[in-house]
Amino acid sequence: MRVYNFSAGPAVLPEDVLKKAASELTEYGASGQSVMEMSHRSKEYEAVQNQCEALLREVLSIPYNYKVLFIQGGAHMQFEMIPLNLMKSENADFVITGQWAEKAYKEAKNYGEVNAVASSKDKTFSYIPELDSSKFNKDADFFHICQNNTIFGTRFIELPDTGNVPLVADMSSCILSEPIDVSKYGLIYACAQKNMGPAGVTVVIIRDDLIYDLSGVFPRIPTMLQYKTYADNNSLYNTPPTYAIYMCGLVLEWIKQKGGLSAMKELNEQKAKVLYEYLDNSKLFKNPVDKKYRSLMNVTFVTGNEELDKKFIKQAKENGLVNLGGHRSVGGMRASIYNAMPIEGVQKLVDFMKNFEAENV
Ligand SMILES: *Cc1c(COP(=O)(O)O)cnc(C)c1O
Repeated sequence: MRVYNFSAGPAVLPEDVLKKAASELTEYGASGQSVMEMSHRSKEYEAVQNQCEALLREVLSIPYNYKVLFIQGGAHMQFEMIPLNLMKSENADFVITGQWAEKAYKEAKNYGEVNAVASSKDKTFSYIPELDSSKFNKDADFFHICQNNTIFGTRFIELPDTGNVPLVADMSSCILSEPIDVSKYGLIYACAQKNMGPAGVTVVIIRDDLIYDLSGVFPRIPTMLQYKTYADNNSLYNTPPTYAIYMCGLVLEWIKQKGGLSAMKELNEQKAKVLYEYLDNSKLFKNPVDKKYRSLMNVTFVTGNEELDKKFIKQAKENGLVNLGGHRSVGGMRASIYNAMPIEGVQKLVDFMKNFEAENV
């Protein structure tokens, strides 16, 4: 029996998508092969990848002057590729809103002058700091934010005005959760395993003018770490993660069938409301985040008693509600309620929390 899986990532996938993939597992279309077995140079596979890209462009309304790249190495490799590719004058601004933002910042430091314009570390990243644009470097090569902070359960509700400085956003845990205006960004990146598909592929959406020719740059930037390599070769310079890309295509098809990103947003807001409303009225559980910046995707909560947290996580699991432990660095609990988590799962979680509260207060 399938459980309700609240994992932060790899995370729940739509059951319909898994069933479709199962039905095509051994024979995809009329090809007589699994997608897993196909040459990445075959016409059949190229159609799979092109379809995935076309759906992503449609669902996210990606303008024509942006490229979609499929890259391996996760969001972590983007922490390297972004400074390696974009740091022309070797300056960049970062907002430190959590562990991922901090990691991206630390990696970028290896490649140039990096400025932390604001941080919410003083209150364990429980809010998004106010930004003072006079602290922004007008000549920075890029300005980096982590749009949704998976571990701490916060998100940007307003984008910084960075003027001509390209805004770069880590959207690993919020891509496809609601409509966005891609034209406001220079580069968007997201690993697939939160809200887009299985692990193995990372999507980079990059404005054309930011794809620099780095062939004359010294020290040499490895071919596989240059965006241009992917852009010039339709992400087929080497073997891409073919099956992960196929699965992302199925997820995008599912999103489209459900009504696209405005429908996802409505459903995600409904789910988050059910959970936050209960948390706000609970005598046992508390959401430690500034209300204004609450994430729609990752809902954190604590009882204030570590033993009780552990008991909750264990009993929840026995009731088919799994992966509710907070990130190993922060403890407590976290329910990740990505697109594929049905509202019934959130309702069942809240019912279970109510019973647990009645028995433990
Ligand atoms: C999960 C996550 C990462 C790390 O992704 P990997 O694919 O493991 O490198 C980075 N940033 C955010 C916002 C995440 O949620």
